Amino acid sequence: MSRLIVVSNRVALPRQAAAGGLASALQAALREHGGLWFGWSGKLAAETAAEVHRLRDGMVDYATVDLSRADHADFYLGFANGALWPILHYRPDLVDYQRSHLAGYLRVNEIFADRLRQLIAPDDVIWVHDYHLIPLAAMLRKRGVRNRIGFFLHTPLPAAGLLIALPNHRELLETLASYDLIGVHAARDLRALEDYFLHEAGATMRRDGRMRSANGRLFRAAAFPISIDTDGIAEMARAALSNREIGQLRDSLEGRLLIIGVDRLDYSKGLPQRFQAYARLLEREPALHRHITFLQIAPPSRGAVREYRQIRRELERSAGHINGKYAAPDWAPVRYINKSFPHRLLTGYYRSARVGLVTPLRDGMNLVAKEYVACQDPNDPGVLVLSRFAGAAEELTDALLVNPADTEEVADALQRALDMPLAERRQRWNAMMTVLQKHDITAWRVAFLQALGR
Ligand code: UDP
Repeated sequence: MSRLIVVSNRVALPRQAAAGGLASALQAALREHGGLWFGWSGKLAAETAAEVHRLRDGMVDYATVDLSRADHADFYLGFANGALWPILHYRPDLVDYQRSHLAGYLRVNEIFADRLRQLIAPDDVIWVHDYHLIPLAAMLRKRGVRNRIGFFLHTPLPAAGLLIALPNHRELLETLASYDLIGVHAARDLRALEDYFLHEAGATMRRDGRMRSANGRLFRAAAFPISIDTDGIAEMARAALSNREIGQLRDSLEGRLLIIGVDRLDYSKGLPQRFQAYARLLEREPALHRHITFLQIAPPSRGAVREYRQIRRELERSAGHINGKYAAPDWAPVRYINKSFPHRLLTGYYRSARVGLVTPLRDGMNLVAKEYVACQDPNDPGVLVLSRFAGAAEELTDALLVNPADTEEVADALQRALDMPLAERRQRWNAMMTVLQKHDITAWRVAFLQALGR
């Protein structure tokens, strides 16, 4: 098989501390085929991509570039996270669109295309990741690159009627047709993509399932639900039991049932609504007081974007309010932590929780939902309460599925999860675990690369 080139905004360099599941999967693919990973170094410098930093580790090359402060502000904070992220998560009300930000986004993509162009050999296969780099293939094609290029979108894709709220949407989204294969997480994202191309961008659907763009290019789109290293995560959860920190958490519960939430502090995660639903449960069910504890881990992210600072303040108020209203001298109903934890500990926390509470308003997939399931004790598994609007809900149909905006429904599901008999917990968990063992992260990347190679 030909060499693989992975392109993403951030590059996970070898032996970097916090390589997540996706980074490990991509590294495995690169090692298997021999390859190159190209992207931003994560560093700011006087000029964007003034030089390409190179590193080699076994069969894998890494090439990274620095961004200038101004480009980082326009490309990353301004357009990618200030305009694209909210529209892709169904929040047109939060879009902060500025022409100068779009110009910076296009500028950085052009510079990436320029530098990457020089590293591409004729039969390399190129796999571009995520919303930061939508126009990259079109820019490479303009520079004469004829290689196979695939794109994977790690966010949801909203319906066409909403996407068109993004100014200049056509100029940007039509460039997706320069890829040979576009991958999304879920069937509903695929429907949205096809709907956009067929009804807004003048494309047609051919009988072989490929689309023909308005300017005649053939491309394919398909759903590839991303996943986790199911067996690896399950093993980590077993091993975590002998960990001192996990023992401390368990001791501190004093027999109370734990409800756990783990999310980047992002408005797409539905955290205010989740806190409200938990408060509603406490209000409705005084008998549960002192018998349950809700642990919400929420590491801050993108603090340079205003909406992220706002939601952080809102949650601090909400957690304080719930504790102020319901706590007793020896019991706090909410433990709210703005800190990130390594998988070594998270897996043990998941395993210690009777309920995994995962209620994003929108999420491309939501890996936390899958991790929670994989970490359970097969003999005494917990229950997953999952938003219908996470991509994971298309696969994990044995979770208790909820609409996160419906406070009563989420409170009902929490109560049902806390009361659920062991036999039903086991039966639901087995069904979900079977899905996760069949569709793990390796299956995901193999399926995408096979479809791209076709
Ligand atoms: N995560 C972590 N430490 C934390 C919080 C989250 O390692 O303190 C991990 C989590 O285990 C998962 C990933 O970050 O693997 C989050 O992925 P998800 O798809 O749930 O959400 P995203 O942050 O990509 O929107």
